[in-house]
Amino acid sequence: MTESISSMNSIGVVGAGTMGNGIAHVCARAGFHVVLVDVAQPALDRGLAAIEKNLSREVTKEKLTSKEAAATLGHIEPTIERSQLAGCDLVIEAATERFAVKAELFKELDSLLRPKAILASNTSSISITKLAAQTQRPTQVIGMHFFNPVPVMGLVEVIRGLQTSQATFDAVRELSTQLGKTPVEVNDAAGFVSNRVLMPLINEAIFVVMEGVATAEAVDTVFKLGMAHPMGPLTLADFIGLDVCLDIMRVLVDGLGDPKYRPCPLLIRMVDAGWLGRKSGKGFYTYE
Ligand code: NAD
Repeated sequence: MTESISSMNSIGVVGAGTMGNGIAHVCARAGFHVVLVDVAQPALDRGLAAIEKNLSREVTKEKLTSKEAAATLGHIEPTIERSQLAGCDLVIEAATERFAVKAELFKELDSLLRPKAILASNTSSISITKLAAQTQRPTQVIGMHFFNPVPVMGLVEVIRGLQTSQATFDAVRELSTQLGKTPVEVNDAAGFVSNRVLMPLINEAIFVVMEGVATAEAVDTVFKLGMAHPMGPLTLADFIGLDVCLDIMRVLVDGLGDPKYRPCPLLIRMVDAGWLGRKSGKGFYTYE
């Protein structure tokens, strides 16, 4: 028996990083009690500070009153004790993108949570079916792939693992709508839809630069002015992180077995050099 949306009160979020704090923000904003967990207090403090900053930005933009912002913060219970998640109806895992980390977490959460509770992962690339197999409740395991920045972006890819039940899918689709997002149904396959299509585009743009066909600026201009993309693929790659792009290309080539997904050698060289994009100050562009 899976948790249904009408009886859902309490949502756990594991990981208070870039995505986790955004997910906690939107769940609390929708009125859920949120238990936000990280491994150490400093990470939790950074996550909460980000939520406060983002809420006050929404107040400045008059999207929220200061009373609503305070109420939203009041719904969030930060803790480094994972046992505090025991009463949650749904837990959304947004921890570091490593299979070993997530596998351990799914095993632990499975033994901690009530039998009806749903376990979701915000993974960008790890198989939901494989995560589900770490638990005794594979029908109640699902992917909820949010986009960065979570409070702003309107999409959730809802990913069905091989064994995900219809009841679990329906509950999570409904919840996504309640969070103000548009859910899109996707089956479990490497890269889902978003990264399966976006990363080869970015990778090909890097080939174009490597082969001297055009500069990064020229490639980005083609996409901004010719295709009405808000941001060119190389600016976007710097924003995502070139290391993250490389990891996802490797997931695509390993998962789909087609050499068309091979990572561009220039991407590999840039990551080897520590040029990771915005976060390292240098990628296809230079940042202050
Ligand atoms: P991040 O590094 O900013 O945050 C990860 C957080 O998880 C850190 O604070 C870390 O301390 C915490 N953590 C690690 N192990 C933990 C554990 N066992 N228990 C509790 N907390 C733990 O990473 P992120 O960018 O927020 O990514 C999180 C997940 O979201 C990844 O699976 C990633 O693939 C996915 N994702 C990221 C983006 C993005 O644009 N950054 C977009 C969509 C999905």
